[in-house]
Amino acid sequence: METPKTLQQAIVYFSKPENCNAFMIMMRWPDGKVRCPQCDSENVTYLEKARLFKCYGKHPKAKFSLKVGTIFEDSPIGLDKWLSAIWLIASAKNGISSYEIHRALGVTQKSAWFMLHRIRLAMQKKSLAKLSGHVEVDETYIGGKARNMHKWKREQAIQGRGGVGKVAVMGLLERDGEVRAQVIGEADQDTLHKAVKRNVRRGSEVFSDGWKAYNGIDERSRYIHSVINHAEKYVDGNVHTNGIENFWSLLKRTLKGTYVSVEPFHLFRYLDEQAFRFKKRTGNDLYRFLEVASNLVGKRLEYKTLIGETAQ
Ligand SMILES: [Zn+2]
Repeated sequence: METPKTLQQAIVYFSKPENCNAFMIMMRWPDGKVRCPQCDSENVTYLEKARLFKCYGKHPKAKFSLKVGTIFEDSPIGLDKWLSAIWLIASAKNGISSYEIHRALGVTQKSAWFMLHRIRLAMQKKSLAKLSGHVEVDETYIGGKARNMHKWKREQAIQGRGGVGKVAVMGLLERDGEVRAQVIGEADQDTLHKAVKRNVRRGSEVFSDGWKAYNGIDERSRYIHSVINHAEKYVDGNVHTNGIENFWSLLKRTLKGTYVSVEPFHLFRYLDEQAFRFKKRTGNDLYRFLEVASNLVGKRLEYKTLIGETAQ
């Protein structure tokens, strides 16, 4: 069978262990040579029945699965379900809930929830390059009652521009490029200026609304700053923040429609997921699937971290 193009084809394709293995090997070792995660030796053999590889090197844990060193490590869930779940999540335009994964793939809802979070981790591919050219900046506030928040997050809850008990999110969008969004403590000058400097290349044109905290961002000619005063109009030539506002409305639709109750504690994961979809909006489902899958290696997320028992 050739490369799957639809969810149904993907589920059929990955129901065969040999296809899962071939796919994982292709993603991890582009030269096709499986190497031992302990000693990097190529002297390994596949144990068909156990679906494990065995290294001939003399060291403990000589048997290993293709999940070792990926976001799937330590998970009892099979690669068939994992890879299908990635396809589901990467292709769902408005996000997908753990209940939908649970029903579609026949895993428990709790497992589905954990899978979703691990896959989001693979969607966090942060490019190191700064945004440039025309960059829109804005903040928004995501609801959430303060009493539901973890304590440390509650302390950061916004008291100013957006109202009590909401979480402030800052977004930066390069026109015709990618969008970045992050939870911020407060939408004050210090926070917003730092975020712009960290993410936007010097000399770029920065567009914002009239929020006073953006004042002075063009100091020492670091940026060209154009302001659209929403009290007067929303567009003035190329001066507007419609791109980032479009992203906010997509984000809020996703949060309302699919993720009924998002803990503010987990919000940053949803932001990354939505930013990923936004960036990949022009590709097809296979392309989005491969983008996520190419990030599988080297990212692990422990359950403890996920439920907030340890600091981020
Ligand atoms: Zn070895």
